[in-house]
Amino acid sequence: MKSLGLVAHDACKPVLLDWVGEHLEQIGGLELYATGTTGRRLMEAYPELKVTALKSGPLGGDQQLGAMIAEGRLDALIFFTDPLSPQPHDVDVKALTRLAVLYDIPLALNRASAEVIIGR
Ligand code: PGA
Repeated sequence: MKSLGLVAHDACKPVLLDWVGEHLEQIGGLELYATGTTGRRLMEAYPELKVTALKSGPLGGDQQLGAMIAEGRLDALIFFTDPLSPQPHDVDVKALTRLAVLYDIPLALNRASAEVIIGR
């Protein structure tokens, strides 16, 4: 695995930050791409990480990650979705997870699955 996409809905951002902090060594060696706010929060928390922050999810960042998957430029996706809140950009969320399934890349929607992808 060379490249990893990271996205978390607002309620799940603390979980993603925590999870990344636990795996800094493995994750630091990967090309990281994140939706805007997720990416900024990651770089604030871990300045040593190089993260390409795309547009914010609701403004097209999910679709940018989806395009990367379709182009074969993303090897895995960690996407901590909020199961308790409706998302205004739900169609984009569905489109992104659909492309991850279609192109058969590892996709983790919660922390336990992310652990499997990172190999723990
Ligand atoms: P964000 O987008 O990282 O810009 O908050 C995440 C999302 O809701 O898709």
